[in-house]
Amino acid sequence: MSQHAPSYYAATAHKQDSRPPLQGRARADVCIIGAGFTGISAALELAERGFSVIVLEDQRTGFGASGRNGGQMVNGYSRGLDVITKRYGEAAGRQIGAMAMQGGQIIRARAAKYAIACDLRPGNMFTAITAKQMRGLEHHVKIWNQHGYTDFELLDRPGLAAHVRTNRYTGGLIDHQGGHLHPLNLVQGEAAAAETLGARIFEDSRVTSVSTGATPVVKTANGEVHANFVIVCANAYIGNLLPEIGGKIMPVSTQVLTTAPLGAAAAELLPSNLAVEDCNYFLDYFRRTADNRILYGGGTVYGAQDSASIRAKILPNMLKTFPSLRNAKIDFSWSGNFALTLTRFPQMGRLSPTVYYSHGDSGHGVTTTHLLGRILGEAIAGQASRFDIFASLPYYPFPGGKTFRVPLTVLGSWYYRFRDKMGI
Ligand SMILES: Cc1cc2nc3c(=O)[nH]c(=O)nc-3n(C[C@H](O)[C@H](O)[C@H](O)COP(=O)(O)OP(=O)(O)OC[C@H]3O[C@@H](n4cnc5c(N)ncnc54)[C@H](O)[C@@H]3O)c2cc1C
Repeated sequence: MSQHAPSYYAATAHKQDSRPPLQGRARADVCIIGAGFTGISAALELAERGFSVIVLEDQRTGFGASGRNGGQMVNGYSRGLDVITKRYGEAAGRQIGAMAMQGGQIIRARAAKYAIACDLRPGNMFTAITAKQMRGLEHHVKIWNQHGYTDFELLDRPGLAAHVRTNRYTGGLIDHQGGHLHPLNLVQGEAAAAETLGARIFEDSRVTSVSTGATPVVKTANGEVHANFVIVCANAYIGNLLPEIGGKIMPVSTQVLTTAPLGAAAAELLPSNLAVEDCNYFLDYFRRTADNRILYGGGTVYGAQDSASIRAKILPNMLKTFPSLRNAKIDFSWSGNFALTLTRFPQMGRLSPTVYYSHGDSGHGVTTTHLLGRILGEAIAGQASRFDIFASLPYYPFPGGKTFRVPLTVLGSWYYRFRDKMGI
């Protein structure tokens, strides 16, 4: 039986029995591959609409990025709305912008509707290390205001001190509609909600093949599902299944650690209990957990190779932000993979009229996956207008193909690492 990666989340999650693997032949309206936020969000959406749903998960529900991320509920996409408009045109920019807050709204509504206890807290913050980054945050507010979003608060250095006790930043921006949460409890809670509506989830059930005909068949080692529709939500863990889409994303690992519970000392560092991420290209992200640890993440390894020591990679950054933690005990450290696209924008599409896919949230997936899960549900139910907006965007492969995409991207990223280091 598969286990979750040994993280703070796995250690503190509500008890959840494992689910049996698929055995033999089964039938459903929709078969979903991958029980992360995307797959489970789509499953819940479809189950609410009365579809029969089977989810096939290689390991455990929430095993991938969804059960071990930073827990930062950040609105929007991995690309700014102005960049999206510039790249895809006014109409697409407006339509995509109109959906930018919906992922967070879906999470809040589901947590309330299904009473999912996932330590949901309001508010997240972006912090600027340089004056240029601060100007970037001011620009960000202007753009978001143009899309009708106004629940922001810009902070200068003294204003920031009420939220983050560090000398590292010149200012920041609060998004009061963002937040943070325990992601493994959220995905497990949503999975349980989908099951109460009749969805069936099979774990330890790696999909080995998918046929793309009129009634697709999805096979695992010991069973097969016959469905009217299939949705592939395998993201960075897709491996060699469906190279035509797996080859267009790059798995990237990022690392996280948590201190031991710090009691009041954690609240002294983050008094208003907001989630924080800085504006660097290789960003640091951190927050308080419900039991008052500091959870600190960062680092990016293209190709998803784990760094030799997560602590050696993340600890210096945490101490740069919070030197007072130099003697803090570190209880957990882990890493996980997200899927990067060349445009840093999520990709949805169809491999055939019956087989859909969605992936590539490029590091900001907690809210986006919930939005995309809903849109996938709408599309299968016959309302594909929002799906088509995403599906019509051009989808570029990484230069260099599967062999050279990692070295070429690393090469390109050196430029950004240099910029972060120089503070420009
Ligand atoms: C360490 C880390 C920190 C992050 N921090 C944040 C954050 O703070 N805020 C934020 O917004 N985003 C964050 N992200 C990104 C975010 O977690 C992801 O974008 C999001 O969870 C992706 O969800 P998903 O369902 O698409 O993929 P996943 O959660 O990875 O789920 C894919 C699932 O598919 C399964 N699978 C793969 N292949 C098969 C197969 N052949 N058969 C069956 N099942 C299969 C996998 O086992 C996996 O469970 C972070 C990511 C990581 C790794």
